[in-house]
Amino acid sequence: MTAKTYGPISGSAILRGITGHKAIVMAANVRIATVAQGIFQAAKDTDSVVFMELARSESDLKGGYTGMTPAIFAEKMKESAAKVMFGTWALHADHITIKKGDAAEIDGTKQLIDAQVDAGYTSFAIDASHLFNFEGKNVREELSENIRVTTELARHIRSKMKDREFGLEVEVGEIGRKDTGGLVLTKPAEAVEFIRALNENGVFPDVLAIANGSTHGHTYDANGNVVAQLSIDIPQTKAIAQALRDNRLSVGIAQHGITGTPRELINLHFPKGDIIKGNVGTFWQDVVFDVLKVYEPSLYKSIYDWTLEKYRPLNPGKKDNQVFDGNCKMAIKEFYKELYSVGEETNQAIRARAYAESLVFFRAFSAYGTASLLKTGAKKKSP
Ligand SMILES: [Zn+2]
Repeated sequence: MTAKTYGPISGSAILRGITGHKAIVMAANVRIATVAQGIFQAAKDTDSVVFMELARSESDLKGGYTGMTPAIFAEKMKESAAKVMFGTWALHADHITIKKGDAAEIDGTKQLIDAQVDAGYTSFAIDASHLFNFEGKNVREELSENIRVTTELARHIRSKMKDREFGLEVEVGEIGRKDTGGLVLTKPAEAVEFIRALNENGVFPDVLAIANGSTHGHTYDANGNVVAQLSIDIPQTKAIAQALRDNRLSVGIAQHGITGTPRELINLHFPKGDIIKGNVGTFWQDVVFDVLKVYEPSLYKSIYDWTLEKYRPLNPGKKDNQVFDGNCKMAIKEFYKELYSVGEETNQAIRARAYAESLVFFRAFSAYGTASLLKTGAKKKSP
């Protein structure tokens, strides 16, 4: 069997396949590729669909902070999927972030997208949510730059993908943004206006990322200790999904920043089906580092020391543990060679932990059986 047999399928096919079911697709940000095989194996054994993704900050033409270019990431994910012979997954470009929206930035972004398409990506998240016009007189004016840039890049993806189908995620409301009143949440009217404007431009996203109270990575208490994130506003999320439905706009919601949220809460209280994609990133990095602590203590110490030496001066007043926790991702590229040349016993432990944790995520997301669902759905359309 070649890697090609188990290559990624369209993100749109997966997201449309679960639409109408109370399930969430897990999207894993695999910053250290070793976890991928365990995730794929769990997906196969539970018949769950899955997305593998990296954000622009994590993976760009220079490798981002993971050291993986889109081509390297794609190759590693295809290899891992082939090893376990699993083929119901999408290769997704998370947070293709645009912060200014000027010509130079758009141009560089198109180059990144081209490299992702060439590498075989099957799904894309355009994130122009930073472009918010605070002077706008109405919602449409406030979102005009986001709408313009998202439209231009979506059209670019479409022309580069030619006749191939792909998944599209867009974002309104910057995730984790705070003002003096705390986290700024997306309003239902903003979500409706944004999707309506994109649809008018011929852009039909599968999924919309909103700011609903989550933050990326861990949440900390006043002493810098990691605590559970309980800030996701579920009623607001439901209200947004309802407003989209009321306006006959066909798009699901993407939940970002799930790492800190207890899975029993997701299992019992998340509006599955309103939320159809859930991003889990930092969690997988924690899995690797937890294993390294025991299996590769000297490597772990080198990573710890390097991170603190570099980032302690930049974070005055913060406890060492929080400085490490918040910045250890930057060590992944620095220790790339070492991380990918650890012993087989270490890799086995990483795979096994990734496998077990994936089972729990797939269960909490009600994703068991979603891979077959997709096949049945496809059959229904073309008997
Ligand atoms: Zn995100």
